[in-house]
Amino acid sequence: MRIDLHTHSNRSDGTDPVDVLIGHAQQSGLDVIALTDHDTADGWAEGRIAAERLRVGFVPGIEISCKLNGISVHLLGYLLDPSRPELAEELRVVRDGRTDRIPSIVARLNSIGVQLTVDEVLAQATGTPSIGRPHVADALVANGTVANRSEAFDRFLADGRAGHVPHYAIEPGRAIDLVRAAGGVPVIAHPWGRSSYKVMTADTVGRLVEDYGLAGIEVDHQDHSPESRTALRAIAQDLGIISTGSSDHHGAGKINHDLGVNSTEPEQFERLLDVAKANAAAAPDARVPEAYLP
Ligand code: AMP
Ligand code: MN
Ligand code: MN
Ligand code: MN
Repeated sequence: MRIDLHTHSNRSDGTDPVDVLIGHAQQSGLDVIALTDHDTADGWAEGRIAAERLRVGFVPGIEISCKLNGISVHLLGYLLDPSRPELAEELRVVRDGRTDRIPSIVARLNSIGVQLTVDEVLAQATGTPSIGRPHVADALVANGTVANRSEAFDRFLADGRAGHVPHYAIEPGRAIDLVRAAGGVPVIAHPWGRSSYKVMTADTVGRLVEDYGLAGIEVDHQDHSPESRTALRAIAQDLGIISTGSSDHHGAGKINHDLGVNSTEPEQFERLLDVAKANAAAAPDARVPEAYLP
């Protein structure tokens, strides 16, 4: 069984349409793929149809933009009801905040001599309800300013660079509450990735488990060194929570993130499905989607 629990389509900042992504999952020999676009469930219906046609296991999920002490942290939510009003409203505010800052990102880049227009950015965002820095990066690639997304982030868009403008994000504890109220399973994405290592200490993870019911952490991720993975697996074991592994695939948008490059152990996936059942039962108002497992 090869299970990849974290991927993006062009409904957020991946480069492939949902049906193409699911086709690639089948071609890569994946048995199960979770679609976890940033702050939107827009791709779920299409994902399920493609997955059923191609007989690839499908888990609807979402990656929620959070912030702890000003540091960006991402929360994966699986098998939740995205229409619960409080959750839907928070996600809308996050998406709008991401998009509304595009003109000020463009203005900042222009002020340091980088040629770019808002329209060029909009042209890169097809089919997403939320336009962000990756689309700015794609516009800079398209007009020849940089060679790829990575160069755009390194030179202009990463935290601390001229074109970085922060956007609204949710406190992780509150996001976990919202996922659980929607009947879903909350898992911290890449806890020791790019910036979140600064705040996602073992103590903080423990507090999120104890106080909010965090169900797991993503252990096998390209942002984690072998040493980090060993340490994170031990933290998950100590806390009795699930360890996942995944590619965080963004299509052509991120190199070294091929589908299935990391995967989730079948027994960990079974635990996740058990927690999903329990959390759905504890949230009777939520209309929780089922995983498709052929
Ligand atoms: P935004 O929500 O608009 O701030 O954009 C965040 C997205 O940009 C993340 O989901 C990542 O996919 C991508 N990203 C963030 N930092 C980097 C980086 N240093 N290099 C490449 N992609 C990045
Ligand atoms: Mn992304
Ligand atoms: Mn992430
Ligand atoms: Mn991601």
